[in-house]
Amino acid sequence: MALPVAEWQGRAARLWAALEPALRERLEAASLQDAVRLGCDVLRSKEEEEAALEQLCHRAPTDKKPEAASWYREQGNREFKRGRYQAALRLYSKVCLEDIARAESHGYPDRLLPKVLLRKAECLLCLGRLQDAQDVLRVLESKIALDGAMTTHLTRLKKLSQLKVKLGEKEKCPEPARGEHGGTQGEPEIWEENSRISGASSSLSLSFDADRGRHLVASQDMVAGQSLVKEEAFVSVLCPGDSLALQDGDTAWDTRATNADLYCHRCLRQLLASVPCQGCSYAKYCSQDCADRAWQQYHRTECPLGALLLTLGVFCHVALRTVLLAGFAEVSRLVEMSHHGDRNLQNPEGSCKPLSEAADAGGGSRGVPGCDSSGRYQSSYQALFHLLPHTEQHSPEHKFLCTLSVVALCKQLQAAGLEAAVLSQESPQQCSKPKTCEKTSEELSPELKTVAEAMLRHVLQLQCNAQAITVMQEMGPGDGAVVDKKPVRLATAFFPVLSLLNHSCCPNTSVSFSGTAATVRAAQPISSGQEVLHCYGPHWCRMRVAERQQLLKQYFFECRCPACLQELDSGAKSVVSIRNSFCCPKCQAQMQGEEDTLCCSNEACATSASRDQLSGRLQDLQQQIKKALELLRVGKADQAIKMLLKCQMDAGTFLSPEHLLMGEMEDHLAQVYATLGKWQEAARHLKKSIEIVEMHHGPSSVETGHELFKLAQILFNGFAVSEALSTIQRAEGILSVHFGPQSAQMQELQEMKACLSELPRNILQRT
Ligand SMILES: [Zn+2]
Ligand SMILES: [Zn+2]
Ligand SMILES: [Zn+2]
Ligand SMILES: [Zn+2]
Repeated sequence: MALPVAEWQGRAARLWAALEPALRERLEAASLQDAVRLGCDVLRSKEEEEAALEQLCHRAPTDKKPEAASWYREQGNREFKRGRYQAALRLYSKVCLEDIARAESHGYPDRLLPKVLLRKAECLLCLGRLQDAQDVLRVLESKIALDGAMTTHLTRLKKLSQLKVKLGEKEKCPEPARGEHGGTQGEPEIWEENSRISGASSSLSLSFDADRGRHLVASQDMVAGQSLVKEEAFVSVLCPGDSLALQDGDTAWDTRATNADLYCHRCLRQLLASVPCQGCSYAKYCSQDCADRAWQQYHRTECPLGALLLTLGVFCHVALRTVLLAGFAEVSRLVEMSHHGDRNLQNPEGSCKPLSEAADAGGGSRGVPGCDSSGRYQSSYQALFHLLPHTEQHSPEHKFLCTLSVVALCKQLQAAGLEAAVLSQESPQQCSKPKTCEKTSEELSPELKTVAEAMLRHVLQLQCNAQAITVMQEMGPGDGAVVDKKPVRLATAFFPVLSLLNHSCCPNTSVSFSGTAATVRAAQPISSGQEVLHCYGPHWCRMRVAERQQLLKQYFFECRCPACLQELDSGAKSVVSIRNSFCCPKCQAQMQGEEDTLCCSNEACATSASRDQLSGRLQDLQQQIKKALELLRVGKADQAIKMLLKCQMDAGTFLSPEHLLMGEMEDHLAQVYATLGKWQEAARHLKKSIEIVEMHHGPSSVETGHELFKLAQILFNGFAVSEALSTIQRAEGILSVHFGPQSAQMQELQEMKACLSELPRNILQRT
């Protein structure tokens, strides 16, 4: 997804292999400027390549299709009749309100109707149709009163009262509230911005040495949960999500909702009622304001190129948007400077370094690359431009692919008459009707060559500096009683300040996102003088050292963090392999051995088994679990339980009791029991899952925090008041460290607490 589609990658690879050796050598050694020039030459002589690219673009249609809405609707109804309510809901969200009306009239099952009504009220509130929202809430309340008692769980009542409060607020001040829900609770965090690094805490300092390059160090003792960096992305691009990879087949549109359907194209907020772009089918916004601003800043250029951008991948898209946001004047200034011996840019480092630093130590931050003339490091295009592209270290094939893609994109910009928009010389009105110029084989203008060179730099930088923006997305077939959330990659972004942090597989910080803003917090106490480290992905709790080192190769350095050193030097087994091991089918002791045959660690038993066979059983088991979840998804909870219990029995005969999969099965069982309203059962299973998660990720990890959050919801719904309160407290302790006191989950926990304290009244209402 980050890179171009496989077919285009294949063509570039074949083209590379067929080049004359002399030309290949020149390309290998070429500066970014020369690479663009040579890339233009290659592409000019290969018209069939451009034609092929155009062909590939047809597979990602982004034009408006008026039939699409009705088609989604039909598909939604079909899903609906099959009983796949969650899927139906998602589809309906594509066309929103009118379809909720449809859901109601299609005999939505009673059990789930309140959920639909709540959603409808939410949509209406969002649209500012207050009277309608009020009506829906009234219907819902009378329905609850009528059904009485236990058919409505507490989570829903809480949501209802929340919506009523919001409605009340909106009626008082009709000003459309901007985005973010609530945000008033919880004490404000202590925050003092660093005078030399924008977006960083004053308790940090920017250091530089040959080993670590640029890095951030604590200049004061810090407590767990303290904010270290708060940075707005310089640029971010919503990842289309898997579903956009369209198959050739009888379905013209994809049935799954993608990121593009669920989140604002510009600010990444979740969409309830969306404002679609008038010109394309993939950009949807949370508000007219976002739509207008995106158009002004970049979308007027991107809109006609949607299919090409999808085909060339997110990195090319980020690179284009970066230069559009920076503006041509700034782009050409920095590109020009890079040609004229700016030491920081010209100095390609031979040695392997973590991220983004160049080799000039100098004194203080004045000599640190990326700082402005006053020695201040800002989250600016200048800082971004100075992130290392590692031009020398990428494979020549990869560089060639990136060059070709960027040049093709720029040629398309020129052919579509968008050059003026890129160079910011026309107002958006004048640009709205691009004049198409026919000659695609025309030479790129010097300005566009500059743009291409900057874009090539950014694409190469992204391999080391792309930051994924993740959100907690609701998972599973939930009817709203227990919300299971998993982190999902939402966008790819540049954060110049965040990029100053070096990697560790056992980091001392935690990063979270709200919209396009990142916050880095201390995940544990950090003492003055310690380096502040962040994990780029391969965490020691999730992977063995060999896998981690493999993944980290893309960053062109070898990790020497304490976890890696320990695992590498002492040959100590990683926690991952110890906990996720097989056990003896006969005596349940741990199986040992690195070879193809594993032996029981209990000498008296001496059973052996082939690794392949055990791995095969593990795969079968995973398949069975998937099937069980599918049953749950179509509303067959009883069958799902039976199947999961059988899986558990089976797993017990060959997986160690601490195996992560054992925990996952407990978690799934908890989820199924929760949908049936069997709270005690659900809680029992979830507690077992929590034990295993704690063992793998540690008691104060995000993972444990999420599990506790789920347990809190289950206990809350099951009226286990005192246990719910103590669980809420534990969850708050962990989640506030990772996400801060203002996060959605923290607010949810506080609302639960408030609701529990008013419980006597609620119970009275329910009986
Ligand atoms: Zn928005
Ligand atoms: Zn558009
Ligand atoms: Zn490491
Ligand atoms: Zn044994």
